[in-house]
Amino acid sequence: RGLAIGIDIGGTKVAAGVVDAEGHILREARRSTPGSDPRAVERVIVELVEELSSGARIRSVGIGAAGWMDLDGGTVLFSPHLAWRNEPLRENLQHLLRRPVMLVNDADAAAWAEWRFGAGQGQDRLVCITLGTGIGGAMVMDGHVERGRFGVAGEFGHQIIMPGGHRCECGNRGCWEQYASGNALGREARELALANSPVAQELLKAVDGSAERITGATVTELAIAGDAASRELLEDVGNWLGLGLANLAAALDPGKFVIGGGLCAAGELLVAPARKAFARNLTGRGFRPAADIDLAALGPNAGLIGAADLSRVRSRTHR
Ligand code: BGC
Ligand code: ZN
Repeated sequence: RGLAIGIDIGGTKVAAGVVDAEGHILREARRSTPGSDPRAVERVIVELVEELSSGARIRSVGIGAAGWMDLDGGTVLFSPHLAWRNEPLRENLQHLLRRPVMLVNDADAAAWAEWRFGAGQGQDRLVCITLGTGIGGAMVMDGHVERGRFGVAGEFGHQIIMPGGHRCECGNRGCWEQYASGNALGREARELALANSPVAQELLKAVDGSAERITGATVTELAIAGDAASRELLEDVGNWLGLGLANLAAALDPGKFVIGGGLCAAGELLVAPARKAFARNLTGRGFRPAADIDLAALGPNAGLIGAADLSRVRSRTHR
């Protein structure tokens, strides 16, 4: 009954799965995101759909992608981490897949999944943040994904939090995602290792001495294993996360923030410092209720589950 395929296209990997109407993943497949060619990404999508749909009756395909979709969901206007620039992706894919395809921003998809099946259930003002290559943001307000006037609401990762700071793939400097994403964590760790810091020993060991191979995932794994420097790096990212959440609370006043994406594998090592920084930076603190900050219940699968589910219920959520 009502099976759909959901595909989550991020800056580093493509995750796909067959999802039922209750949000369960019945089958999955993964690839790394092919570099700079939009056609290569389309080929990977086609491959994954073929692989996953053999023997199953698939009604629809939902694509959650790290890009800015126009309101009508046909065109990817722009993507900081992928090669799409005004790309008519839905038409291309419908042609290749001969099935109805629904396009949605990856963070919108994750937020929808968490609201339907995960940590955001029952919330009427939910903000979801995904931490991976970049920072994704989305709002589920009164049961629908709020997309703004042009379809690109929720691009919180590109709020400028440090004027003149690190360059961002969006064209600006000092964006939040340059300080609180998985990529930011990797960059800080590489810097630490390249500075020959004595505390970077474990990090360097994990990559056989080649500092440039350290990623956010390296740091997360070592932090979980107890490495002090990796824990400090995660704490720094957690601080930036909490600061950005306080800004969002000032603007949006949600009841809950759900934190997802690959970096949420760090769990409390990330979220505990974020809660602290949030409490310290919340405007009017002490005189107002504060939103909860929880980890995504569906973890890094939220995006593909949400994309599949939205492709099934699109008529309800598309305004
Ligand atoms: C993009 C968003 C995307 C996020 C997470 C950001 O850089 O602007 O559209 O949701 O990364 O992939
Ligand atoms: Zn940016």
